[in-house]
Amino acid sequence: MELYDVIIIGAGPAGLTAAIYAARYHLKTLVIGKVLGGEFSLAPKVENLPGFLSVSGLAWSEKTKEQVEKLGVKLELKEVKTITKESEKFVVDLMSGQEKYACKALIVATGSERRRLDIPGEKEYQGRGVSYCVVCDAAFFRDKTVAIIGGSDSAVSGAVHTAGFAKKVYIIYRKENLRAEPAWLGEWQELEKSGKAGTIYSTNLIEILGDGSKTTGVKFDKAYQGKNELIVDGVFIEIGGVPGTGLLVPLGVKMEETGHVLVDEKMQTNIPGLFCSGDVTQNAKIMQQAITAMAQGAISAGSAYKFLKGEKAPQILGTG
Ligand code: NDP
Repeated sequence: MELYDVIIIGAGPAGLTAAIYAARYHLKTLVIGKVLGGEFSLAPKVENLPGFLSVSGLAWSEKTKEQVEKLGVKLELKEVKTITKESEKFVVDLMSGQEKYACKALIVATGSERRRLDIPGEKEYQGRGVSYCVVCDAAFFRDKTVAIIGGSDSAVSGAVHTAGFAKKVYIIYRKENLRAEPAWLGEWQELEKSGKAGTIYSTNLIEILGDGSKTTGVKFDKAYQGKNELIVDGVFIEIGGVPGTGLLVPLGVKMEETGHVLVDEKMQTNIPGLFCSGDVTQNAKIMQQAITAMAQGAISAGSAYKFLKGEKAPQILGTG
């Protein structure tokens, strides 16, 4: 079983940034992540990342992978089955087969998993009109009618992106005022003015309708323009995520009721040598953005270094 100084689980903004810092601390580092870029790789257009006028989440992830690998970090796009603690080491067991790795310090940056609506038709028509990934699937709805569920940044930015393909896009939101960034709202309002887009407020979906092979519409809990149903070809569910902290439960990592891991300002959990960063931490409830996840990833790597060197901080950590 190969031993690393640090294993980082998660290949999103937090995990990849942690990898860059760990490599520059000359730690033998392995990154294991299910998806390159994590949820961020699904962002169609990112315009608030300093240094980039506009970049897709996927393009950023691919560029950062290049940087991580150039620094000598091994990156495995695989799924972790279990994490166990064996004396002073963490053992990471992969789903894919017999591979197991060990490390002296562990950084978990597994991000969040898409929240589901849990309504009839959702599971049945997933992949047949129902999708959780605008970037992956919007182009399949060229000249079609699509509903986006949600009212925050993913829903509105996703709806703007989808409008580049679809004939008509509806946002269906359970409250009265969309709460995305004003920049996204501005773009959405322009689309509404053009007649290509519409928002249905204070409405919940209660069923996704289909003909047995594909999605044909959605059913509401109250009438919209006199009807409880709307004919659509596709439904994107963009209602946020839940922290992907399931792997940490058997280790006894302290979490909030919401599943967010409790970390201190050094990203240290209650388990010595185990650090967390990004959407899995309680910090994500203050601001859940790629850039804050990246900052936490950097802090995690610095803290892991400090832990491994017996509290001797590198220059970059200052006196803390
Ligand atoms: P959020 O948690 O921000 O929003 C989820 C949305 O889905 C809310 O509008 C919520 O409603 C709604 N919702 C949640 N559960 C349900 C349900 N069961 N039924 C109906 N509606 C529901 O998630 P996002 O994925 O939009 O964003 C996650 C993070 O990523 C945020 O911090 C966001 O700012 C960031 N992000 C930033 C982007 C950017 O361009 N800056 C782009 C995309 C994401 P309610 O409003 O009532 O809570």
